[in-house]
Amino acid sequence: MRLVLVGPPGAGKGTQAEFIAEHFGIPKVSTGDIFRANVSGGTDLGRLAKKYMDAGDLVPDEVTNAMVRDRLAQPDAADGFLLDGFPRNVSQAGELDDMLDEIGAPLSVVLDLEVEHDEVVKRLSGRRTCKKCGHVWHLEYDPPATPGICDRCGGDLYQRDDDHPDTVRHRLEVYAAQTAPLIDFYRERDKLVSIDALGAVEDVTERAITVLTPHQD
Ligand code: AMP
Repeated sequence: MRLVLVGPPGAGKGTQAEFIAEHFGIPKVSTGDIFRANVSGGTDLGRLAKKYMDAGDLVPDEVTNAMVRDRLAQPDAADGFLLDGFPRNVSQAGELDDMLDEIGAPLSVVLDLEVEHDEVVKRLSGRRTCKKCGHVWHLEYDPPATPGICDRCGGDLYQRDDDHPDTVRHRLEVYAAQTAPLIDFYRERDKLVSIDALGAVEDVTERAITVLTPHQD
């Protein structure tokens, strides 16, 4: 299965991506995670990406497209993948189509996680990530037993720079202007399935698996 997840920041794409990828036995390719790993590792790519990420803007297409092209050429992506956070605009979607044409393997399906604006703001502002294992907690919805400490590994929790209120607002504007048009783009191509992404994580995962299963090759 070659699958793309779309939805606003805070829709739970990263969390759902992990469960869905595991269920279908495909690698999860998250452009946000790859950029963050480069920022932590102090690479040239990380230094370049950080400026855009901290502002809540998109990293330029040439940089992002080249990174995705490299990642999808890895052997583990040969039999399918789940893209989380890419494409982020119609131009990237065109580039993805070209990449897939080259290998003669069309996209199977695009899953749209639907969440309303106010809920997204609440989710993003309460989000806390573990510095050590990367697990994502939420101050209200999924708090760790000891505030500020990860229950899974004991690591310290932090708030992503781009989850601060001003940046959240800007990221949502960027989503509405650049990423939301992908929903029509894929609907017109008969690739889109949508689910309600409100509710318990495992309920949303179950909904996702139910609508995606018929699209397995
Ligand atoms: P995410 O974890 O998906 O919310 O991504 C965090 C940040 O990484 C975004 O706000 C962008 O700055 C950058 N980013 C992730 N994916 C892309 C993409 N496909 N195109 C451009 N920038 C991206």
